[in-house]
Amino acid sequence: MTQNLLQHLFYLNQTRSDESATLRPLAPLGLKPSQTAMAKRPPRGKCVHCLADNVDRTWDHVFPRSWYPDTTPPNLHKWQIPSCQPCNRDYGRIEEDLLFRLALCVDPHAPATAGIVQKALRSMKPEFAKDERDRAARAARLALLRNELFDGPEIPRSAVYPGLGERWGRPATQGLGVRVPAESLRRLTKKIVRGIFFLEDNAFIEANYLINFYALAEESAEPIKQLLDQFGKEYAREPGIVVRRAVAEDLPMGALFEIDIWGQFKMYASVGPFES
Ligand SMILES: [Zn+2]
Repeated sequence: MTQNLLQHLFYLNQTRSDESATLRPLAPLGLKPSQTAMAKRPPRGKCVHCLADNVDRTWDHVFPRSWYPDTTPPNLHKWQIPSCQPCNRDYGRIEEDLLFRLALCVDPHAPATAGIVQKALRSMKPEFAKDERDRAARAARLALLRNELFDGPEIPRSAVYPGLGERWGRPATQGLGVRVPAESLRRLTKKIVRGIFFLEDNAFIEANYLINFYALAEESAEPIKQLLDQFGKEYAREPGIVVRRAVAEDLPMGALFEIDIWGQFKMYASVGPFES
């Protein structure tokens, strides 16, 4: 199996954002003392994800730890937020599965994905197994992948995730696609949105707010990009992730997000009150 055969992503529900609130630029991301010392567990308190209060918490990586490429500077401060144990475990499972699929769709030669593709391929190889259980897990991953592959002619063009289509100049018939659960992308987007609000504003996105995820082609994303160019502030942990956020002046917690992963694909999001 060659790694760059698997370039297509499936995503079936593209929506254009209708966000129209006034936007203002933001102050730079300041590091609060509580986020500089990460060795200890956070004290009991509120989970950034599920908002459960007064619970045991652990540090959760906003950009999953295993998603940082090998080219990440060793002293880079990684974003972490306090999460309850069940949310942390749940996200761990989603992120492992998602990384495995996405890694097969990215450019294996880009510096921003150094080690990512190799990690995914290695995770399917029995010769790297530590024990029998690990060997079975690797076999299961390979079997799952074989089940979820699509040949070029079977791939509906509208289902290819923006930015992750054929980039190697081959005819579509020679491509292969792998399915990526939209719900996992939605969950990851929510985590990053909640994470930035917490790190930047020490704010929780309460249950009466809605976080929407959008997969947009370049041209559909143009109105959002223009607003972010004008009013957005950038938060980066390069080369893995670059986030841009613009917050609304006249709508509490209203915001637009662009999330760039490995310089390979983007996820968009809006935040607003439920009733709007
Ligand atoms: Zn939680």
